[in-house]
Amino acid sequence: MTAGTARHPLVRVRGLTKNFGTHQVLSGVDLDVHEGEVAVLLGPSGSGKSTLLRCVNHLERPDAGFVEVAGDLVGYRHDGGRLHELRPRAITRQRARVGMVFQQFNLFPHLTVLENLTEAPVAVRGIPRKQAAARARELLERVGLGGRESAYPKRLSGGQQQRVAIARALAMEPELLLFDEPTSALDPELVGEVLAVIKDLAVSGMTMIVVTHEIGFAREVADTVVFLDDGRIVESGPPGEVLTAPRHERARAFLSAVL
Ligand code: ADP
Ligand code: MG
Repeated sequence: MTAGTARHPLVRVRGLTKNFGTHQVLSGVDLDVHEGEVAVLLGPSGSGKSTLLRCVNHLERPDAGFVEVAGDLVGYRHDGGRLHELRPRAITRQRARVGMVFQQFNLFPHLTVLENLTEAPVAVRGIPRKQAAARARELLERVGLGGRESAYPKRLSGGQQQRVAIARALAMEPELLLFDEPTSALDPELVGEVLAVIKDLAVSGMTMIVVTHEIGFAREVADTVVFLDDGRIVESGPPGEVLTAPRHERARAFLSAVL
């Protein structure tokens, strides 16, 4: 998208570095994601994909570098030798703008499907319960689960639970959605229904960062494919380039293993 290059990216990651003890898990990661774009993050297990997403959503604190979402700083900024720390209230406000969907769905088991969707909008955003419920029903229709609002999560298949989790993230009206291997816990026959929902969101213009090993999905949906290896981005670009003719040896080895 040529127009996109002139705009300020919605997500701007610069020099992001994260250590766990003596292990440097992210080493100076730079990444831009423009509004309406989908970035797919690929890489071997342990390469730092989840940590990168968790830094974007304040679940981890960077040791250096910074993340900005819509021009607002996430976490820390290392700036002219000074580290700026955000106040908890600023972190809460920013986190509400970013939705996250995990491999294990993480639905509230004691709440119905509808209650899973209305809980945060009512408690965090102060939306009237009736209004939140109406919106929740629309979102359930959108993910193909109209009529299942009274069910408890354990009565649903994994694919249905993950679609509820996506609808729950959307109920907060996020500006950005993060997916961490959203289909890895699913039986193979249920993967397609979840990918179809994510693809529909991409078509509707949602900005997303998706960690997945589903190369077909990446090829079809991604604007940018980013390949992470040992905490570094070793290759990134349009799927037609990165997935068809990767230049980096580690990216080639990874792709030939998953394809
Ligand atoms: P990926 O999602 O690509 O598999 P992760 O971001 O989960 O990779 O992990 C990257 C590395 O960081 C791994 O070596 C992992 O063991 C380590 N790691 C992740 N979280 C923690 C943690 N909370 N404490 C210590 N090490 C961690
Ligand atoms: Mg991971």
